[in-house]
Amino acid sequence: MRQAIAAANWKMNGCAEDVAAFAAALSAVSTTAEKVFAPPAAYLSVAQQANSGFALAAQTGSEHLAGAFTGEIAMPMLTDVGCQYVIVGHSERRALFGESDAVIFAKVQAALASGLTPILCIGETDAENRAGQAEQVLAAQLAPVVKGLGSTEKQRLVIAYEPVWAIGSGRTPLLEDIQSIHEKIRYLFGQNDDTISPSVRILYGGSVKPDNAAAIFALPDVDGGLVGGASLTIESFKKIIKAL
Ligand code: PEP
Repeated sequence: MRQAIAAANWKMNGCAEDVAAFAAALSAVSTTAEKVFAPPAAYLSVAQQANSGFALAAQTGSEHLAGAFTGEIAMPMLTDVGCQYVIVGHSERRALFGESDAVIFAKVQAALASGLTPILCIGETDAENRAGQAEQVLAAQLAPVVKGLGSTEKQRLVIAYEPVWAIGSGRTPLLEDIQSIHEKIRYLFGQNDDTISPSVRILYGGSVKPDNAAAIFALPDVDGGLVGGASLTIESFKKIIKAL
């Protein structure tokens, strides 16, 4: 049985007061799903102080464990302030900050070594989708973890399928396409070990809203959502949680 996840990614939005209010309200939402909140890094401790019932996540972390890396935040520091999860390989990090699959894999390893659960984001761009290359792109993005991690480490990962063209755009893939891609990811990730596929949690992300969440979450290979814009108010995110 895979426990569903509802994860809120606030990106670079909000202030301390907003984060504290959201964290307190999120704590009070009753659900069988796991609630995850990724506030901006500056407010991780603010969120944690108001936390009585969700898992705290960072939006990124360094691949280096310590040292002269001005401005970076090390994974052990994230554990230290109460994080259980860290988002790794979000498409904005890939596109805007040049994170390669190799760097992303190093971040996954640093996260695991620090006791964090990585939420590994993968997804194809619009051009790749139109060219029929989605599966090829996803396989390449998954290859470092498929080849480089052992079974025990794989069991600790969460994957988020986030088509780049769906993020913040109001567009989502057809339901049958979400299902078939998730099924494929489940197969690819577990291909060297058949204990992995049934247990890995695969989230969908990209324009999840209160009005489409239930249909997306009902798909058999979707284990919850990574939500950006629609997580910025508790009213909207609560409806998404309740759709799980
Ligand atoms: C995201 O950035 O991870 C995301 C899914 O954003 P949105 O829900 O706004 O599309």
